[in-house]
Amino acid sequence: MKVPLLDLKLQYQAIKEEVLKVTEEIFESQYFILGPHVEALEKEIAEYCSSKHSVGVSSGTDALLISLMAADIGAGDSVITPTYTFFATAGSIARAGATPVFADIDYKTYNISSESICRVIDDMTVEERGKLKAIIPVHLYGQCCDMDSILEIAEKYNLVVIEDAAQAIGAEYKARRAGSMGDFGCFSFFPSKNLGAFGDGGIVTTNSDEFFDRLRLLRVHGSHLKYYHKKVGGNFRLDALQAAIVSIKLNYLDGWTEARQANADKYRELFIDAGLDNIVNLPTEKENRHIYNQFVISLKEKRDDLRIFLNDSSIGTEVYYPVPMHLQDCFSYLNYKKGDFPVSEYAASHTLALPVYPELSYEQQAYVVEKIKEFYL
Ligand SMILES: *Cc1c(COP(=O)(O)O)cnc(C)c1O
Repeated sequence: MKVPLLDLKLQYQAIKEEVLKVTEEIFESQYFILGPHVEALEKEIAEYCSSKHSVGVSSGTDALLISLMAADIGAGDSVITPTYTFFATAGSIARAGATPVFADIDYKTYNISSESICRVIDDMTVEERGKLKAIIPVHLYGQCCDMDSILEIAEKYNLVVIEDAAQAIGAEYKARRAGSMGDFGCFSFFPSKNLGAFGDGGIVTTNSDEFFDRLRLLRVHGSHLKYYHKKVGGNFRLDALQAAIVSIKLNYLDGWTEARQANADKYRELFIDAGLDNIVNLPTEKENRHIYNQFVISLKEKRDDLRIFLNDSSIGTEVYYPVPMHLQDCFSYLNYKKGDFPVSEYAASHTLALPVYPELSYEQQAYVVEKIKEFYL
């Protein structure tokens, strides 16, 4: 039996007719950049994410970068973010000209730990604290961070909060949607996200009218009146094709999310029935609405051998993420060292993502668990 980590071909079959219809309409119109399809999507996403505004952009990475630019964060500033995340989070801080300051994660949720943030801030000199301008919590794998304490810290130190919600569209924290709690919410439409485009794309949500205006200005080279530039922005535009396709898919998103959650429940039962619950550490679900962009297990031993064994059994898995940001070559100038963030380092070497996409069958899940059992028991 084959169990890919993700199979988007099945999803495409369900929406093919709608997609081809709108694609043809856009091809006939030859109107490709921004425009009515992007505006329609912006309205829909703002509503879906309980935010006042949203601004379609070129990718999730650019959503982070343009948010930092809109918050006027750059050279001389620093930004706190978890060391255990996808590279784009930390990379965007550096690209904005600011300095990433890393914090560790919570061992249960893999999200940034508020205790670690407090420790990092406590260790700063008065001068360093003066440079600290923002915090980027990452709602990793589809589950929201502990936002109450993060927002409390942000208020205390007057920090801008940019939620990296690339993996968490529709996730909730105490009935509040990801992307609606901070100053900015950054989403990605990379095909492997829960709401993926047919290429690159992203969107920023905000409740602030002022940030909304700045985002829209920066998206088009800082110019609303053609050839008159108020700010140095960039080409952060979303195109009509991607927006139209994402719009169609948004109608299916809640159904797909429910299927992912049901798959997560099925894994839990299967792992317990297999007697593996002592060997396989299952994902912890807090009170949040977890949307399971990934179903990530943690293994006390032999993670890499298991991965090879599963691969040989035609089961796709992935390691998110093998090297935490503080140990990346490109950040060696920050002078972190191994051992600085033990929880992140442990997660990097012990976790494994299993297939959890909506169309996964019960037989496929049972096969995954059976193979893991065969490996360990
Ligand atoms: C995917 C992802 C991004 C970047 O999104 P792109 O659209 O690929 O640029 C940023 N942060 C996190 C946590 C992600 O998972």
